[in-house]
Amino acid sequence: MPDAIEQLATPIANMASVRPRQQKQLARLGLRTVCDLLFNFPRDYEDLSDLRPVGELEAEVLQTVRGTVEEIDSRSTGFGKSRVGVLLNDHGSLLRATWFNQPFMRDKFKMGQRVQFSGKPKMRGGRWEMTHPHVVWLGDEQAGPDEQASTRELQPVYPLTDGLSQYHMRRIAGEVVPNFVDVPEEVFPDDLLSEYGLMPIAEALSEIHMPSDAEALEHARRRFIFQELFVLQLALAARRHQQRVNFRAPELPATAQIDARITRLLPFELTPGQRRAIDEVAADMATTTPMNRLLQGDVGSGKTLVAVYALLACVAHGQQAALMAPTEILARQHAHTLERVLKQSRVRYKLLVGGLKPTERESVLADMAAGEIDLVIGTHALLEENVQFKNLGFVVIDEQHKFGVEQRAALRRGDQSPHYLVMTATPIPRTVSMTQFGDLDVSTLRDMPPGRQPVTSYVVGPGERERWWNFARNKLREDRQAFVVTPLVEESENVDATSVDQAFEQLASGELADFRVDILHGRMTAAEKDDAMERFRRGETQVLVATTVIEVGVDVPNASLMIIASPERFGIAQLHQLRGRVGRGEHPGYCAVLVDEELADVGRERLQKFVATSNGFDLAELDFELRGPGDLFGTQQHGLPPFRIADLVRDAVVLEEARDAAMQLFTRDPGLAQPVHAKLRTQMLRRYGAALELADVG
Ligand code: ADP
Ligand code: MG
Repeated sequence: MPDAIEQLATPIANMASVRPRQQKQLARLGLRTVCDLLFNFPRDYEDLSDLRPVGELEAEVLQTVRGTVEEIDSRSTGFGKSRVGVLLNDHGSLLRATWFNQPFMRDKFKMGQRVQFSGKPKMRGGRWEMTHPHVVWLGDEQAGPDEQASTRELQPVYPLTDGLSQYHMRRIAGEVVPNFVDVPEEVFPDDLLSEYGLMPIAEALSEIHMPSDAEALEHARRRFIFQELFVLQLALAARRHQQRVNFRAPELPATAQIDARITRLLPFELTPGQRRAIDEVAADMATTTPMNRLLQGDVGSGKTLVAVYALLACVAHGQQAALMAPTEILARQHAHTLERVLKQSRVRYKLLVGGLKPTERESVLADMAAGEIDLVIGTHALLEENVQFKNLGFVVIDEQHKFGVEQRAALRRGDQSPHYLVMTATPIPRTVSMTQFGDLDVSTLRDMPPGRQPVTSYVVGPGERERWWNFARNKLREDRQAFVVTPLVEESENVDATSVDQAFEQLASGELADFRVDILHGRMTAAEKDDAMERFRRGETQVLVATTVIEVGVDVPNASLMIIASPERFGIAQLHQLRGRVGRGEHPGYCAVLVDEELADVGRERLQKFVATSNGFDLAELDFELRGPGDLFGTQQHGLPPFRIADLVRDAVVLEEARDAAMQLFTRDPGLAQPVHAKLRTQMLRRYGAALELADVG
C-alpha cells in the first residue's frame, strides 16, 4: 500500500475519466496530481432545487424541469458540426433542449423516458428552450453512479480553461474525489476539531465537491476557510515570535529626563491619543526585544509627532535613528518639520534622497557610517546596499503602504535589529490589519489634534462648475491656496482623463487666469519638484496643479481648497488622503470632486458616500467592502500568497475566531514543537515559510 504522499502524487493522467488532450488543459489550471484536484475547490455551486412546471418558467434564471422525452432529433450542420434536440413534455407543456457538437448526446435518450433538465431557459418561437442543460435520467434502471451523483441539488462549478467543459471537470472530480477522499491526513488534532466545530478532512472534502445539502456545504466550507486563516495566523504568530527571539535591539528607555527634554522641543502639547501611542512605543523601545509596531490614525491625526518623539528618544541614547518616507517630497517636508524642532538642539541630522549631488551624497554616507550623523531622513535610498550606519537603533517608516516585509529586514545586521515603527498612510480595516500587518503590534490614534478645521466636500457636476470656480476664486483672493489634482496619465496613453499638463494650460489661461498657478508631477526632476513645492509652501504660487505625488503626507497649512478632476479614477482611501491635505491650518477646508455628465450611477453613488463621510476609519471599511483588499492593501505588497477560499470581506468573523485560536495554540506550544502539531507546522512552513522568512527552528 503506497503511503498518503505517494497516493496524492498520483498523476491525474492515470484517471480513467481524463482523456489525453485534457492533461494539458488541466495543467493550465495548475492541476497535475490527485492532490491538486482534491484541493481545487468549486468556485460556486449551481442550485438545481428550483424545480418548476414548464408553464411557470422564467427566462434566463437557472431552473429545473421534469418530464418525458417526446421527440429526439439530430442532424449534421456542417463539417464536424451537429445539433441534437430533445423535446420534453411536462403535462402537455413542451420544452426543447439543444446540444451543439455533442452528437453522442443522441444515444443517451430514449423515447418516453423520464428526465430532468436544469438550465437557463429562453423563449424562442413561442416555446421554451434550454441549451446544454444539466441532465438527470430519472427512474432509469441503467443509471450508473455518475447519474446518481448528479441528482444532487447542488452541483459544483469549477474554474475552467479553454476546451475543458464543466461537464468534464465534474466527471473528473466525480472520479477522483470518492476514490481519494480518505487519503489526505487530518492536520488538526482532535481537540481543535471539536473545540472549533470543524468538519473532519475526509467528510469536508467530499461535501465541498459534492454537497449533500446546503448546510453540509456551509460546514465544509467553513472548515477550509478556518484552516486557511488559522494557518496564516499561526505563521504570523511564528514570525512575531522569531523576531523577538532571534534579534536583539538596543534598550532605549525614555527616562523622565529624556521625556522632559523632548516635550520641551515639540511645537505642540501632545493630544491624549498621541501621549498614549508614545507610551506604547516607549515601552517597546525600553527593552532589547525589537519593536515591530504599526501606528495607524486618520489623515491629519498627528502621527508625525509620535515619530519625532521616538526618533529623539533614540538619539538621546547616542544611537542613530532613521525616518523613511515613500516620496522625496515627503522626506523633504519631514526634514523641514524636524529642522524647526531641532533648531535649539545639538542633534546632527541630514537628508538622504535620490536628488543629491554625488559629492554631497558621498559625504552624507561617510558621516553616517562614522556615526557623525544622529538622524537621517530619506526615501528608499536608505535601503541601498552602500548605506551603512554606525549604530542604528530606531527606524520609522512613514506611510507604510509603500513598504513591505523585505524592507524592514534590509536594515538589520546579523542578530542586531533596530526598533521599527511603521505608520500607515490611511486607516486600515481591521481584517486587513490582522492579516497584511498581522505580525505587528498596533497603536491607534483616534482623536484629532485641536484646531483641526472641518473640510466640507462637494460633488460638482457640469452645471455647478461655474459656481464652484467663483467660490474658489473668492477663497484665493482671501489669500488661501488650492491644490488641483488630476489622475496620472501619460500624454501618449489613449485615456479620456485630463492630463496634468492639459489641466494646467486650461486653468492657467481660463478659470484661474488671474492667479499664480504652478505645476507638479512625477516626471519633473527632484530639484524642480522641490522648487515647485517650496514656492507653494511660501505662498508664491496660489494654485498647485499636481498628480498624486502630493497624495500622502503633504502639509501646507494655508492650503484650504482641494479640487480633484476625474475622481472616479481614484479609490476612496486615496480621495480621503487627498482631502486630508486641506483644513490643516486655521482655515476651514473645501474639497470638490469634479464629475462629468457621463459618470455612471454607481460611480456617482460612491462619490456621494465619500463626500458624506469624513471619518477615515468608516471610509476605509466602505472602500474595502466596495473594492476588496484592492491594490492599496494588495497581498503582493506584503508578499503573502493569495487566499484560496477565504475572503476578508465575507469571512471577518471566522478570521477573528481563527486568530484567537492561533494565538492560544501558539501560547500553549510556541514554535509548534509538539508532535500533535507537526502537520500544522509543516503546512504553515510550506505555505508561508518563504514569504514571512520563517526559519525552520526547533
Ligand atoms: P498625519 O497623521 O496625517 O501624518 P500630521 O502628523 O501631518 O498628520 O499632522 C497633521 C497636522 O496636525 C500637522 O499640521 C501638525 O502640525 C498638526 N499637529 C500634530 N499634532 C498636533 C498637536 N498635538 N496639537 C496641534 N497640532 C498638531
Ligand atoms: Mg503623515
